[in-house]
Amino acid sequence: MVKENCGVVGIFSLSGTNVVPMAIDALRALQHRGQEAWGIAIPKKEPLKRLGLVSAASSEFKKITEEYCSPSVIGHVRYSTMGRSSLENAQPLKVKDLCIAHNGTIANVQELSNLVGGCSFTPQNSSDTLVAAQRLVTLISENGQMGKALSILKNEMIGSYCFTFITDDESVYAARDPKGFRPMVLGYKKSDNTYIVASESSALSAVGAELQRDVTPGELIKLSKDGLETERFSKENSTAHCSFEFTYFAHPASKMEGKNIYVSRKRIGQFLAKKFPIKDGDLVIPVPDSARPAALGYAQELGIPFDEGLLKDRYSKKGPLRSFIEPHQTDRVEINRWIIPIREIIEGRHVIVVDDSLVRGTSSKAIIKALKRAGAKKISMVITYPQINFPCYAGIDFPSQKELATFTNGKEMTSEEITEMVRRDIGADFLGYNDAETLAAAVGIPKDSMCFTCSSGNYDSLGITPEFKTRAEMKGE
Ligand code: SF4
Repeated sequence: MVKENCGVVGIFSLSGTNVVPMAIDALRALQHRGQEAWGIAIPKKEPLKRLGLVSAASSEFKKITEEYCSPSVIGHVRYSTMGRSSLENAQPLKVKDLCIAHNGTIANVQELSNLVGGCSFTPQNSSDTLVAAQRLVTLISENGQMGKALSILKNEMIGSYCFTFITDDESVYAARDPKGFRPMVLGYKKSDNTYIVASESSALSAVGAELQRDVTPGELIKLSKDGLETERFSKENSTAHCSFEFTYFAHPASKMEGKNIYVSRKRIGQFLAKKFPIKDGDLVIPVPDSARPAALGYAQELGIPFDEGLLKDRYSKKGPLRSFIEPHQTDRVEINRWIIPIREIIEGRHVIVVDDSLVRGTSSKAIIKALKRAGAKKISMVITYPQINFPCYAGIDFPSQKELATFTNGKEMTSEEITEMVRRDIGADFLGYNDAETLAAAVGIPKDSMCFTCSSGNYDSLGITPEFKTRAEMKGE
């Protein structure tokens, strides 16, 4: 089964400006959300899709912006939580006159596919996005309106979804799931009289648009010749914003739910310094790149020097990529090889390493090994995200419990015992995880408004009791 967590964008210019160059810039600013493939779609044309980074196609940009000249566009950057990184799985996808780009995961895709007449879904060859699009097209034809169709679809569909759509009548739509698992913002560029919706505000900044607001969970926005129209296809009382966006996934320059990500991460570091005041540390170093603001906050709070003891080799093949979202284990190992310790900073010191998360433990193990080789006297590791104990069914790639560093193989263990097990496994002298209360307090969003399912195992916000599957089972192998 192919599932996505990705970045999406939708742009409509009321002045008739060709917004395809803007979409390309916006997708580049969302590249951290997916590096496997990207694509754009304009009305009455097949979507354009490419594998790899957006910048890898820079020699084609001129041709693309001429051939795909349009005042309305949607776009997508992809990382798969499942399946192959093939061009056919890249987005946007087209079903009849509707093109769709999706950030999230439809957890009950098998069930949903039964509602799609003639749908050719099998786990191996199709995606949750395609099934949702096929069902949506049917519902639109039956009900006439996107809003009505979505209000039916949201009752049939379990999962997280931020969609952008474009239709042959040139309208652009954006919809955010009723719980607001994944982020989505609305912006406006005055000079071009252009509206833009995107997964993150970093995309708005990249095209010179001003952030107007977050798209409300359960909101459908339509951008067309008539301007901006909005309606609610769902009215939920509670939200479940993904807390992992705040420590790892989102761009530090972005603002979501009114909170800047860089500032939030720095505050998380400050709060962690109070939770784990390792006062005999000689220096605090971040694991590049997402943990840098938290490490700075931690160091400043305790008055311990902050330094860069680990640097990414930006000129290696994998250096600029992010290890967690790389789909293949061999690629993750290769990335870690290109994080280089600086002996002159590390040697003979008690190093406090701050990292944004500990998922499989692969990176942490490799980093601690490298720090030991560089002569660290003692290594304490502080993780800005709580223990990840359960898979995510709302769009982030923790597909199998067995793959998690915290996997206990059925043995009853307390959280402290799990921390100790992981500490020994990665080889640190001390390991401290954040907790949900501290993370939420540092970000400044009530804990109950955020999702912590991968830590707590409480899947109530999704409304499911998942059967945990292996990666192979989820891939349909
Ligand atoms: S389960 Fe974890 S990663 Fe998934 S949406 Fe919730 S907080 Fe985010």
